[in-house]
Amino acid sequence: MQDRKETDVADAEFDDLGCSTRAIHQPAHLSRNHDVPASKKSSGADNDHQSATDMLEKTLARLEGAQAGLVLSSGLAAFNMLAVSLLSKGEEMIVHRPVCTETAALMENTLSRAGIIMIPVDLSLPANIHRSVTPKTRLIYFETPTNPLGDILDIAAIAKCGRSWGVKIAVDSTFASPALQRPIEHGADIVLQSLTKYINGHGDTLGGALLGENAIVQKLRETSLRSPQAAISPQASFLILRGLRTLALRMDRHSSAAHAIALTLEAHPAVAWVRYPYLQSHPNYSIARRQMSGGSGMLAFGLRAGRDGACAMIARLRLISSGVNLAEVGSLICHSARLTSARHLSLARSGLCDPLGDDVIRCSVGLEDAEDLIEDILQALDFG
Ligand code: PLP
Repeated sequence: MQDRKETDVADAEFDDLGCSTRAIHQPAHLSRNHDVPASKKSSGADNDHQSATDMLEKTLARLEGAQAGLVLSSGLAAFNMLAVSLLSKGEEMIVHRPVCTETAALMENTLSRAGIIMIPVDLSLPANIHRSVTPKTRLIYFETPTNPLGDILDIAAIAKCGRSWGVKIAVDSTFASPALQRPIEHGADIVLQSLTKYINGHGDTLGGALLGENAIVQKLRETSLRSPQAAISPQASFLILRGLRTLALRMDRHSSAAHAIALTLEAHPAVAWVRYPYLQSHPNYSIARRQMSGGSGMLAFGLRAGRDGACAMIARLRLISSGVNLAEVGSLICHSARLTSARHLSLARSGLCDPLGDDVIRCSVGLEDAEDLIEDILQALDFG
């Protein structure tokens, strides 16, 4: 009992620390647990896995302000686990339309075959929930910021509408990471993170996480124990824990460079439009400022020269590489034609996804010097 009190005090003090400190250190009682003498440490692979994965789950839960966490093999595996754990055949999940990531493909190809029904709803108007909820609705799921266009949805407003019907809210916060946005503080029940992206941050491993209250995570964990293919590898947990230590530092730098690039693009005569949450021209700018503490490193834009212009510009870039991944140390750029072939083909009939304009360019701004990235973009825009 005495011990428990000490632990609670340690936890409370720990929760007052900043994001970087909490990503690097453990609260006193966790450190004590891990600080076992070398002779007593097990060298078995299972225990190594347990300690890295366990530590990752606890650290992520603390960063999100959640009671508990479950780490899985990828973001997609996390979404699948969420759906199959919390919904049964014939039950409904409201999803924000359009959904444009691989999660949409999973929804269409796998979950609908399992009898789980996706109800696409435009959640940019949260009141739409009132018209879409039925007695079979179990979950409302959405990304914010969305991939690839960076729409910002109002977590607090959606959570309020969902709660009035007793429906749980799950937010994919991958584009922000807990360094910039903590959906639980805004009323969400569950946070999904693709650890493959900013949390690992180095583009060298896959992982996914679900964070929420103890009872929900326990339910998710029970289902995951019956799905061994969804387990994360010990090496992946180790790498992600290492990447996580610099998350706040990286997100700060990703955000400041992306903001500077967004402003440069917006002022350029060859650019038709730019979408970045921290630009005043962003339609959801005020929600972004309220809900996020930085704009993150993802931006989308289109050129006046449309699709041909996008191809010409990307071909001229010297520093920024072409690639569909995101949230890596190096900057990556991707034309919607590639996103489309990867994702939308299988979704054409689903009603979940709108076709992307063929001019859409998505840029994942890395950790290079912002001036060098801006110079690269300016020379690449000079193709006329
Ligand atoms: N969530 C978002 C917002 C994504 O962009 C992606 C992948 O692009 C995923 C989830 C899926 O994550 P993973 O690649 O780890 O399966």
